[in-house]
Amino acid sequence: MFDRRDAERIMSIHISSRLPPDKRIWLHTKSGLFTVRSAYYWSKNKADEQCTKNASSSCKNTAWKQMWKLRIIPKVKHFLWRACNESLPTKNGLARRGLQIDTVCELCGEANESTTHLFLECQATLPIWYLSTLRLDLRNQAYGSFKNFLWTMLHKQSVEYVEMLSLIAWRIWLARNKWCMEKKKFDIIRILDGAQLMLMEMHKTSKSSKSESRAAARTRWTPPPIGILKMNSDVAKFNDGTVGYGFVIRDHSGDVLLAGTRREQRDGSSTAMEGLAIIFAIRSALEAGFMEFQIESDSKCLIDSIQGKGGTECSSEVVVGDVRHFAKAANCKEIFMFIGRLID
Ligand SMILES: [Zn+2]
Repeated sequence: MFDRRDAERIMSIHISSRLPPDKRIWLHTKSGLFTVRSAYYWSKNKADEQCTKNASSSCKNTAWKQMWKLRIIPKVKHFLWRACNESLPTKNGLARRGLQIDTVCELCGEANESTTHLFLECQATLPIWYLSTLRLDLRNQAYGSFKNFLWTMLHKQSVEYVEMLSLIAWRIWLARNKWCMEKKKFDIIRILDGAQLMLMEMHKTSKSSKSESRAAARTRWTPPPIGILKMNSDVAKFNDGTVGYGFVIRDHSGDVLLAGTRREQRDGSSTAMEGLAIIFAIRSALEAGFMEFQIESDSKCLIDSIQGKGGTECSSEVVVGDVRHFAKAANCKEIFMFIGRLID
């Protein structure tokens, strides 16, 4: 009855658990009513997007150029560059510079800690790659060096894949440093969630205006009062049409009690997506037995809609109603506006 693409899009429509009556709407106006003007702008934007895509894929870059072009923050690019040049201060790296130290890897205790060992061979880090969305099984793979590994991935995989890979490597490096220097637990889930949230933040920041990113960079996360939990959620749209949701729930001391990420095929306005991220977060929290949070979102439009200030876009009405429903079920105290980054 429907071709595969249409069927997938239909299946990706959010079905409300409250079962409100069905309604037909046009997604590209706030009222949900069709206008020729909105159809013109929509088709023009689509054509522009296609143009940009074709231009970038026709450019042939060397691996270094490709690496510097990744949409990740400069300090992660610098880290990749050092990892490729074997100049990270791993145990082997420090010994090469003349330091008299024990060079055994502190994570596994089984081999000398070189860049290659730490990222591609260590028993403590191999599961991270496999459990990530990249599903990388590095056992029995002989890349020989981090540089060769990264170059191969730049050649074989999408930009988005390599960005995720870069952020995972970066979070492994940070967690390794915390373990070696402060004996902070080397936590696989935290590394993966950290990388996923960084990716979402970066894609969002690269799209928002410069003034917005400056404002975001200035805002810090503040803890909730004792006895109340705080939930932060976020959304990223990917080039393949999928949407990623992520959330963290923290207590008054900033400790992460629950975090989650999910990626799925989904169509809709960004306000609706932000709402779906909150619903995903509240449902996960309820399943884990957590109640009573403050909810923070960086979507002003969504917060206003939930609080009944200003009109709700027709296309987000169902989702906004569901957020209210689940927030009530979880006994959520307050829904705040938040414009900062979720991570340090
Ligand atoms: Zn090791």
